[in-house]
Amino acid sequence: MSNKYDVIVIGSGPAGYVSAIRCAQLGLKTACVEKWVSDKGKQILGGTCLNVGCIPSKALLESSHKYEEAKHDLDIHGISLDDLKMDVPRMIERKDTIVKNLTGGIASLFKANGVTSIQGTGKLLAGKKVEVTDDKGDVAVYDADNVILATGSKAIEIPPAPLTEGFIVDSTGALDFNEVPKRLGVIGAGVIGLELGSVWARLGAEVTVLEAQDTFLSIVDQQIAKEALRQYKKQGLDIKLKARVNGTDIKRGLINVSYEDSKGAQELKVDKLIVGVGRSPVTEGLLAADSGVNLDERGFIFVDDKCRTDVPGIFAIGDVVRGPMLAHKGSEEGIMVAERIAGQKTQVNYDCIPGVIYTNPEIAWVGQTEEQLKADGVEYNVGTCPFAASGRAMAANNTVGLVKIIADAKTDRILGVHIIGAGASELIAQAVVAMEFGSSAEDLGLTVFAHPTLSETVHEAALSVAGHAIHTVNKKKRK
Ligand code: FAD
Ligand code: AMP
Repeated sequence: MSNKYDVIVIGSGPAGYVSAIRCAQLGLKTACVEKWVSDKGKQILGGTCLNVGCIPSKALLESSHKYEEAKHDLDIHGISLDDLKMDVPRMIERKDTIVKNLTGGIASLFKANGVTSIQGTGKLLAGKKVEVTDDKGDVAVYDADNVILATGSKAIEIPPAPLTEGFIVDSTGALDFNEVPKRLGVIGAGVIGLELGSVWARLGAEVTVLEAQDTFLSIVDQQIAKEALRQYKKQGLDIKLKARVNGTDIKRGLINVSYEDSKGAQELKVDKLIVGVGRSPVTEGLLAADSGVNLDERGFIFVDDKCRTDVPGIFAIGDVVRGPMLAHKGSEEGIMVAERIAGQKTQVNYDCIPGVIYTNPEIAWVGQTEEQLKADGVEYNVGTCPFAASGRAMAANNTVGLVKIIADAKTDRILGVHIIGAGASELIAQAVVAMEFGSSAEDLGLTVFAHPTLSETVHEAALSVAGHAIHTVNKKKRK
């Protein structure tokens, strides 16, 4: 078989595998290079997202949510459960089965679409050549008309908390505890730290989250972030802001975590510690010195808004380039690049990429926050609706949270939607669709929503932008 391809994709995460499949669908001869192998030497497709990210974390969040619900939230429905037990190894096994099925599914999709899967570590050489070293050390060089770099990201390690087997773990280790730790520390109150901290808190761990910044969830609209902090604290998550970890010491089976807060030096004793301080792009060994591809000042592969690097025919997508580290962002970039290689004019609308935090309550948003609009001097109107006003939310005993819609004061175009509450991860999709089509708040308010649904809260928040809400009292009363 010839070593020449129309497209070689390096990395099989949600950016790379989606791009490879789309390329093949468009008739391009495509190969995808992935280095990851199991202990048994079998290639593992799907990247961080499927193996140690989005999917396994959501599997554990679902299991722990069910346990928490059974423990605390069923009695109100008249259901009582005696002798509730949690079998942690069984929960982990279920998570592993889901991961196995999904990653195996990608191998089948590659086969069905005609993508050639190559095991090994890829390196971009000059002249659009890709050198691949497999896990046995054998080297092969392939030619391509186009190369798509999709090597993703890895967890950042910090010197004060070196990963130590059985004690100090990153997000991957936190997906595989074989029992519930009595006391769990989490460094970093970012999305990953909060989600994984929640899993083990729900199962009974005493969780302390240490966050260096003094603003909680600075990427989230602060009205929503404040409500989130209140709810997490109510659930027993001890979140300490302005608390910077500067050392750890393991003695007699316990981790002593030293940190500095506004009152000075502090200590925390925990049984396990999760380091969740962010992720960095994977570029080590990827680019030959003369490849012509450059990195930006933060170490990401430099690309424009069409994911083109500085070398024609070489693209980069997903976590290895600028923008939010989200699976769906990388997948959309992968599709855009595939279709542009095939001569189409596809673009990614970077203004409409939703973000979700899968805690309880869930947080989801799209577009701009009030803080960003204020900083940009944009005039806007805000409409909100609490879930407490929803009959469906009451029926489900899920009345915490609200929907907030921000619209341009002059044009009424929706600029941002922010949701905290049960089902926020699903509800946000309707806001994304509305914004993608350039909807005004009025358009959304004129749309018919089924009753009784949680979605009606989105409708009501849209009405409230103009002071026309029916089921809540309007702050601004307008005709
Ligand atoms: P990756 O998924 O990191 O895949 C890159 C692949 O490239 C890997 O398989 C790697 O082995 C391979 N590779 C690297 N270098 C080479 C090389 N030189 N040669 C060959 N192969 C190579 N995002 C969401 O949108 N929603 C979530 O709910 C969510 N939850 C998360 C939970 C956790 C715990 C974590 C850690 C992340 C989560 N993310 C979530 C982020 C999401 O996983 C990433 O944004 C996504 O996986 C990035 O996709 P990618 O394809 O760019 O890179
Ligand atoms: P994210 O990048 O969203 O995953 O969030 C990571 C969080 O970790 C950020 O909010 C950082 O402020 C926080 N962080 C980084 N280093 C430390 C540290 N040494 N101690 C406490 N928090 C930290």
